[in-house]
Amino acid sequence: MSNNEKTSIVSGFYKLPIKDRIEFVKKFSDLNEEETQLFTSCLDMDIADRMIENVLGTFELPLGIAVNFLINGKNYLIPMTIEESSVVAAASNAAKIARIKGGFKTESTDPLMIGQIQLLHIDDVADAAQKIINKKKEILNLANEQDKVLLKFGGGAKDLEVRILDSPLGKMIVTHLIVDVRDAMGANAVNTMCEALAPMLEEITGGKVRLKILSNLADKRIVKATAIFDKEKLGGEKVIDAFLESYNLAAIDPYRAATHNKGIMNGIDSLIIATGNDFRAIEAGAHAYAARSGQYSSLSKYYKNENGDLVGELELPMAIGIIGGAGNIHPKAKLCKKILGIKTAKELAEVVVSLGLAQNFAAVYALSTVGIQKGHMSLHAKNIAVMAGASGNLIDKVANQMIKEGKIKLDRAEEILKEIKWFFLQYLQVPAHNNNKLLLAGPYLLF
Ligand code: NAD
Repeated sequence: MSNNEKTSIVSGFYKLPIKDRIEFVKKFSDLNEEETQLFTSCLDMDIADRMIENVLGTFELPLGIAVNFLINGKNYLIPMTIEESSVVAAASNAAKIARIKGGFKTESTDPLMIGQIQLLHIDDVADAAQKIINKKKEILNLANEQDKVLLKFGGGAKDLEVRILDSPLGKMIVTHLIVDVRDAMGANAVNTMCEALAPMLEEITGGKVRLKILSNLADKRIVKATAIFDKEKLGGEKVIDAFLESYNLAAIDPYRAATHNKGIMNGIDSLIIATGNDFRAIEAGAHAYAARSGQYSSLSKYYKNENGDLVGELELPMAIGIIGGAGNIHPKAKLCKKILGIKTAKELAEVVVSLGLAQNFAAVYALSTVGIQKGHMSLHAKNIAVMAGASGNLIDKVANQMIKEGKIKLDRAEEILKEIKWFFLQYLQVPAHNNNKLLLAGPYLLF
């Protein structure tokens, strides 16, 4: 299917059996049989054993699909790997609302990463800093000799910035190497360059190099997503005012901003993980960026436009790749990139930030209106029922009874389970999970 012919809008996707959901994604993303099988397979032990040390096994998380996304006019199904209930549903719902006014629009800088080289034990730091600047061309040339492949794709070391910092140990120089990493996340590429430059910088300045590593505050690799959320669909002006009141607390208060930004990362991390990217790098960069004014604040911004619609914007560093790292090794990460149909790291980064905005909008909208517990509770109740020992049909029975009573607690789940089991054994003399005999289950039919 070409992108013009396909749409990511699906209503009732969550009601379909898993095999039908897979069939839909298979058609949308032109997956072959082998790729389709991957959904239900585990990571090969040999691959796992090469990825980290001391491997014992693999650890599975659910992989879901967020639907309805329209980003820069293109339809996307977005794979999300996450353990928390309601996140995928909330993103899909937000995307559906954003579609009314044209979906998400994005803009991004070039993929520039920063490598830091720390120089100490220098008497005249101003003079040393100037010497580094004077040798910029030679320094960039040596950096670029380290990665001919990157150069071939139009990337490579592009610039230098020299900073003088005061520390309790005295003044130090930190040289920033600015590297265009094209479709890579770039950590290995930048670290290799920084290490190669260390002897040259020591020779130029007479100082001693200590650290030589990239910065995760990738503030030269910024992506911004914007969406307009329709006033009528949201429930009118009063709802938007309530939304803006909620948002404003995140703008001024770090205690709220931390939770607000956590909601953004629910979306972002789940796609970062699904594509085999480094979610710790993204988290570190996001939170450092959120504190760039000196006070930790919201990564997103909301306001009303001239029509009274709600406008949402999300801007943050996005150091991710489609080449290199675990994303090139993990079969499911490759599958997820195929589902997305992305062609460049820039495109992936723009999808990630759009998803983060959708997630954030959904959370603040729910918090400003019905609260988030309602949406959370159905799946949460099922998890509690499983924790209490329920299996098969009993999971839904126990969960529904807890929802009905408004008491979603482990001790109540255990009591309900005990009551059901007692009833079955006492009156019917059958095991409680027996599907057919459940029809005879007297009062528990009312659940
Ligand atoms: P990588 O070294 O595996 O691959 C990048 C390389 O691929 C480039 O240097 C280039 O030589 C080559 N390449 C081929 N085609 C390319 C293209 N179109 N665009 C760009 N490069 C192309 O990966 P990486 O991105 O340098 O490093 C990512 C890994 O580093 C991640 O696994 C991350 O977890 C890890 N890491 C992170 C940190 C940190 O965040 N602080 C530190 C160390 C390592």
